[in-house]
Amino acid sequence: MYTLVYSIDNNKNPETVYVNLTNACSNSCIFCLRNQKDDVCGAEMWHDDKYTLDDIIEQFKNFSSAKNVVFCGYGEPFLKKDMMKAFCNYLRANYPDIKIRVNTNGHANAIYKTNVVDEFKGLLDEVSVSLNSDTAEEYNEICNPKIENAYEEVKKFIKACTNAGIKTTASVVTGFDKHKINTEECKKIAESLGAKFRNREFITNGY
Ligand code: SF4
Repeated sequence: MYTLVYSIDNNKNPETVYVNLTNACSNSCIFCLRNQKDDVCGAEMWHDDKYTLDDIIEQFKNFSSAKNVVFCGYGEPFLKKDMMKAFCNYLRANYPDIKIRVNTNGHANAIYKTNVVDEFKGLLDEVSVSLNSDTAEEYNEICNPKIENAYEEVKKFIKACTNAGIKTTASVVTGFDKHKINTEECKKIAESLGAKFRNREFITNGY
C-alpha cells in the first residue's frame, strides 16, 4: 500500500503526522515539491486515490501518539473532501485531543460552488491557505490555476475560514526563482481578511 500517512521527522513517535489524500490539484505551482522529487523523507507520495478510510486508519495507527494531524501531501486535500471529513470524524471520536489542520490552495468553495468550510466546523482546528502573492497576475504566474478568477477565490476562501472562527493563516513562499514576493502587501491582505500571515522560505528539495 502506498503512503497515505507519513511523518517528516524520522521519529517513531512524531508530534505531527501528515495525510496524503490525493495527487490531484487545481494548481500547478512552479515551486511544487511534486516537480522535484517523488518522496518526502523516503515516503513515496504518488498514488492512484484507490484507497478506503480503513487504509488511512490502518496507517495512522503507526503514529497514534501524534498530537497534530495535517492534511497536506502531493495534492489538494479538499479535492477528497468527503474522505477528509470521514477521517476528521474518526479522529474526533477516537483521539479528541488531536489538533487537525489542512494546508490548502483555497480553491474548494469555487470548485464545489458552496461554502465547504461550513461542513468542517468543529472538525478543523486550523487552516493554512496558500495566498502566494499580492496580485492576481503574479498568482497566476506562480500557481498556474485551473479555475477562473482563482486569486479572488483564494481571498474569499480565507475570509470564509476566518468568518467560521477557524484559526487561519495565509502563506507565501519566498526565495524561489525570479519572483520577489511583496510580503508586506501580502501580510496586509492576510490581516485584512482576519488571518495570520506566514512567509515560508523555499527550501530546495523540500525537507
Ligand atoms: S497547491 Fe500545493 S500541491 Fe497544488 S501545485 Fe501548488 S504546491 Fe503543489
